[in-house]
Amino acid sequence: MVTTSAPAKEQNPAYRPARTPPPLGMNLSGDPRQALVLLGQRFGDLFDLFAREGRRLYLVGGSVRDALLGDTHRADYDFATDALPEESLRILRAAGLRTFPIGARFGTIAAAISDTLVEITTFRVQEAYEPGSRKPEVEFGDSLDDDLSRRDLSINAMAIDRHGHLIDPFDGCSALERRILEVPRGGLENTRSILRDDPLRLLRIARFAGRLGFAPTPDTTQAAMDCRAELLRISRERWKMEMDKLLLTRHADQGLAWLAHTGALQVVLPATGPLVRLGQVRRVGAQLLDTPDDLMTRWSVLLLHTVVTEHTDCRLDLSRSLETWPDEPLRTAFASGVASRFRFSNAERQCVERLLGGIPDPASLRADWDRPALRRHLIGFGEDAIRVLDLLDAVGDTVPGLTEHTGRLREALVSLRSVEDPLPRLPKGLGHALHEQLGMPRGPALAEAMARLREAILDEALANDPDIDACIGWLRDN
Ligand code: ATP
Ligand code: MG
Repeated sequence: MVTTSAPAKEQNPAYRPARTPPPLGMNLSGDPRQALVLLGQRFGDLFDLFAREGRRLYLVGGSVRDALLGDTHRADYDFATDALPEESLRILRAAGLRTFPIGARFGTIAAAISDTLVEITTFRVQEAYEPGSRKPEVEFGDSLDDDLSRRDLSINAMAIDRHGHLIDPFDGCSALERRILEVPRGGLENTRSILRDDPLRLLRIARFAGRLGFAPTPDTTQAAMDCRAELLRISRERWKMEMDKLLLTRHADQGLAWLAHTGALQVVLPATGPLVRLGQVRRVGAQLLDTPDDLMTRWSVLLLHTVVTEHTDCRLDLSRSLETWPDEPLRTAFASGVASRFRFSNAERQCVERLLGGIPDPASLRADWDRPALRRHLIGFGEDAIRVLDLLDAVGDTVPGLTEHTGRLREALVSLRSVEDPLPRLPKGLGHALHEQLGMPRGPALAEAMARLREAILDEALANDPDIDACIGWLRDN
């Protein structure tokens, strides 16, 4: 389902623009120009390599933006050059650097400089989708300004040269100061065209709203509303990458609320329609911020709200019995559908299925959990045994005293896990012995006997790792 009408602001209490921005100086540690000079110096050798070949090279994008914000800790650095990919490859290899042609078709060559990854991309002029294609078509150019003009946001469209001189043709610096998000050159028509060229940019804007707490300008928001359906043209893997990043940001609530306000959230995840209509997106966003930095727990917070509101048409309320929820198979099937839609890995799919399907009723946490119950929890949830408690804590704002119960349970689980392996183990050759000594036919009867023995171990009626005689004795007595 793709929503066709934009939710008006007043109908959508989930959306509130970002708070009034503080001046840029408040974000900065030290002198931003000095930070740029240091950044240029850091890659002096690389700049020289290209300069010696008569090629231009600039550091662009996130590293420049973050340096201006006083954040110099990054894992990757993006460069732009007028050298064609083959030439960049040759220059880097001749200097003895390790290279990785990660996106040669799109003009990107990666190289390792000490333990830093740099990506060098040939200037681009176009990044448009051919009709029917899910991958962008790329055309190389020879102008830095043209390259910068096709970037997603003005704050990401700045570059520096070797000396740390800032090249900022689209007032990215001023956008940083005003804490706004807009495409280079702004303007409604132009923004639409930039979003249409690569609709992923919609999700990226939400991601940067979440990362920086900046507000998209009204034109940006309007253009996103107009272009949201175009998201369906791009690959789901790209959706997933940006959504993952958004869910882990410091202001995920702002990013998510904006995405819902533009209707783009409902395009990538149609089941969120009722969540948006019931004005629950801000609440989900606030809960995300209180959730550990764990990707699958964060996805589960969003998905649990989504599946419950979709099926009950009521906000998620953990203080009411889970009987009012869609049942376990439905929740699991929903998780699995989303996992397929967003191309989750198998491990990720299993995790959201387990968390959404198996989330315990908070009422059950008040009881005293004996060892058999703890073991069953550990076995049922496997490595997600603690995660599901984090999920309960995150979405349980309607249950007073919940964190006390989850805290107690968390401790008990950790301590049990540290002293024993909860998995029940049966001796080797047991099947054969049961067949020979008790005359049990092979097949379902034998499997059922084994299952009963495992249950007996979990209940402590039988010690773990019993020998064959103990198993046979127990089966005779029971
Ligand atoms: P991060 O700090 O998360 O790495 P980043 O700004 O470096 O953020 P990347 O996704 O690594 O973002 O992309 C590097 C740069 O390439 C961006 O700053 C932006 O200028 C440009 N860019 C990346 N993806 C797109 C896109 N889909 N459309 C336009 N420009 C893009
Ligand atoms: Mg980057």
